[in-house]
Amino acid sequence: MFDALVIGAGPAGLAIAAALCDAGLNVAGLAPVPPPVAWLNTYGIWCDELEPMHLTHLLSHRWQDSVAYAAQQTIALQREYGLFDNTKLQNYFLERCDLGKMVWYQGIAAAVEHLANCSCVTTPEGTALSARIVIDASGHNPALLKKPQRDRIAYQAAYGIVGQFSAPPIESQQFVLMDYRADHLSPDERQAPPTFLYAMDLGNDVFFVEETSLANSPAVPFEVLQQRLEKRLAFRGVQVKEVQHVEYCLFPMNLPLPSFDQAAIGFGGAASMVHPASGYMVGALLRRAPGVAKTIAHAIENLNDPPASIATSAWQILWSNDERRKRALYLFGLENLMRFDEQTLQAFFASFFQLPRSQWSAFLANTLSTPEMMQMMMHFFGHTTNEVRWNLMRSAWSDRALLWDALVI
Ligand SMILES: Cc1cc2nc3c(=O)[nH]c(=O)nc-3n(C[C@H](O)[C@H](O)[C@H](O)COP(=O)(O)OP(=O)(O)OC[C@H]3O[C@@H](n4cnc5c(N)ncnc54)[C@H](O)[C@@H]3O)c2cc1C
Repeated sequence: MFDALVIGAGPAGLAIAAALCDAGLNVAGLAPVPPPVAWLNTYGIWCDELEPMHLTHLLSHRWQDSVAYAAQQTIALQREYGLFDNTKLQNYFLERCDLGKMVWYQGIAAAVEHLANCSCVTTPEGTALSARIVIDASGHNPALLKKPQRDRIAYQAAYGIVGQFSAPPIESQQFVLMDYRADHLSPDERQAPPTFLYAMDLGNDVFFVEETSLANSPAVPFEVLQQRLEKRLAFRGVQVKEVQHVEYCLFPMNLPLPSFDQAAIGFGGAASMVHPASGYMVGALLRRAPGVAKTIAHAIENLNDPPASIATSAWQILWSNDERRKRALYLFGLENLMRFDEQTLQAFFASFFQLPRSQWSAFLANTLSTPEMMQMMMHFFGHTTNEVRWNLMRSAWSDRALLWDALVI
């Protein structure tokens, strides 16, 4: 029997597996393709999130010139952005798993049975793996964990190309976090859910350009995103010369939290850890895995404790009251972002990036405490346009349940 069984070999599975190994546990993993596996998503992060962890060596690219375009303004963000080298990121986790002599099994987790002092996961082929605690890190649609149903799931959707172009689609050595300029769209198209360009100069005349819908329910279809990207590039007189990789990005932003009375724990998308207002998660995985792993290691020391009580300790750390309060505020923010028309959304982001950099950075990284976050929201309210203020006031009434959650959790 293992101490811990991790389901899934994405960033969340490997982050928690490595941290559990660091904590001295005897860990096994189960994935359809055990690692090393190719991670095809382009994972970006702000460099200052990695610096405190001394992990900037995991980046393949860094940009000092990072900008946003909104409300007729070019906003210099004055914050360095990076793109992970996925092989380095994965090896960083796997080397720690190897040190802990972790074992990987190939298979799909199909069912879990919780017994008196262990849980047993089975695959359709009949493999059965037992561990004191199971960590479901199988992504946004988890294999074993149950989440309550929700009617209106908001999705981040993006269509991107890595390739060469007839002319630079963005300025040389630049990273564009969001370009909301929409002059290339007809008035009718501008009534549809707004999308923006996320783009980076990868060097050697190669660029990554991605048309992105921050969040919408239902998801903005890939065809619409592709057409918008083509139209945006054409408007700037840029043709695609060679496509090296196409990224289809789609994931949920506001899935409900799993029920905390389950005898397994979740991590990553499975535990709804995606930042509901930005869609980022990798920084949170790196930051939070050691704390969750230490809690599990501590809980496991009591040999008679059933999986349910180990899971309870871990859920309390992962989704503490403070984390849930902040999530309610982020969900309130997300509802606003989805309701704003294009002009209001642009005004919102122009004001957001005028906040002190330490505030908007910490808001995006989810490193503020609840009082700090509320203070920031008030500060934002005082400094944004009347139009944004009016929309926020309307939402404070229509989405009062979310604000109420933030107060009473
Ligand atoms: C295209 C794209 C780009 C993104 N870019 C960024 C970014 O720049 N920065 C950022 O922070 N976030 C980004 N995200 C958001 C988020 O970080 C990713 O979705 C991330 O991959 C989620 O990690 P995860 O490990 O929870 O899930 P996944 O990456 O989906 O991994 C799940 C793993 O579980 C396995 N699995 C599934 N079912 C089973 C089963 N039944 N049994 C066993 N194993 C199973 C899968 O094979 C896989 O190995 C992006 C997402 C996408 C889709």
